[in-house]
Amino acid sequence: MDVFKMMGRHNHEQVVFCSEREIGLRAIIAVHDTTLGPSLGGCRFYNYSSDDDALYDVLRLSRAMTYKASIAGLNLGGGKSVIIGDPEKERNEYLFRAFGRFVNGLGGRYITAEDMNTTVRDMEWVRNETSYVTGISKALGGSGDPSPVTALGVFVGLKAAWQTKTGREDMSGIKVAVQGVGHVGYHLCQYLHDAGAQLFISDVNQQAVDRAVRDFKATQIGGDEIYELDVDIFSPCAMGAILNDDTIPKIKAQVIGGAANNQLAVSKTHGEALRKRGILYAPDYAINAGGLINVANELEGYNQERAFKQAEGIYHTLLEIFRVSEEQGIPTNAASDHLAEERIQKVARIKRFYNDSPNRVFKRR
Ligand code: NAD
Repeated sequence: MDVFKMMGRHNHEQVVFCSEREIGLRAIIAVHDTTLGPSLGGCRFYNYSSDDDALYDVLRLSRAMTYKASIAGLNLGGGKSVIIGDPEKERNEYLFRAFGRFVNGLGGRYITAEDMNTTVRDMEWVRNETSYVTGISKALGGSGDPSPVTALGVFVGLKAAWQTKTGREDMSGIKVAVQGVGHVGYHLCQYLHDAGAQLFISDVNQQAVDRAVRDFKATQIGGDEIYELDVDIFSPCAMGAILNDDTIPKIKAQVIGGAANNQLAVSKTHGEALRKRGILYAPDYAINAGGLINVANELEGYNQERAFKQAEGIYHTLLEIFRVSEEQGIPTNAASDHLAEERIQKVARIKRFYNDSPNRVFKRR
């Protein structure tokens, strides 16, 4: 593994390898870019088949957080961590407290949170050793479940997309297909139902389907049927890579936007394929930033009303992404990357003024 070469590819600032043999901790923390502020991103617990795979994943995920925080207008950088091991067998207090010590050692350059296979309880163990942790329970002053805020962000993002595509913001009577009616999908259905949309849903969990059918008069559809359905909007709220060579040619929806991460199987190819087909795609990391906005709010003392208000800003963020995409003739995901990078570059320029260095400020000839 050539660590510096891998870090250099996307300019990662710092990678920390953490080890506590007796407790069995093997973790990697990656800080991608702290231009905008301390890096924040979840801690993933996964049985990687090799250390190389773990490093590759943490580098990829931490970079994605830089873009997500930037496009969401947050003063945060991108970071992520992975704990290597079997979450079923190796989860315990000491493992997470040891991890918390390493996070604390970074002095606030990295703030951790829940992610795949880590829970609120794990983060509470981490909190014994560091205050640089978010995603703890409401009872302990945290933000609790982020999905209602994420769902609001997706809803306003879809409104912006629908408005851009059709000139109307009103969603009454339009047909929306939602893939996955779990935490975010269910709340999203509530917003869409209240706005008068007609819902078509699919989920591998029949109980989740039954609940949405009952509460929102949604129509259940079969797994793959969702891609070919004659609907106005398609909202992926389950898994990644579902926009690919197989599905894109079948899609009839005019707008795609949902909570799922990494919806494009290959960003470059499939973003362009959607643009060519005239389908307006709301970039996943921009439309689903409500979850990050929610945990970021913990840093200033959690206030749910403020978190919801900030998530509403996703509407304007998406209008701007669509404007740049149209103006420059580029896919919306490329426009979003461009805007995220531009914000980092401009803030970096501004930070040159009155920087902390006494030599710079007081130097006399
Ligand atoms: P969840 O696990 O509560 O819900 C996902 C739902 O998708 C489940 O009901 C599951 O049964 C269903 N599902 C799984 N495979 C499916 C398939 N093949 N077809 C149809 N349905 C399927 O998760 P969630 O918290 O609602 O998050 C949904 C997605 O959004 C995830 O990809 C997550 O990473 C992403 N996301 C969530 C948040 C958040 O705040 N929870 C924030 C940002 C991104």
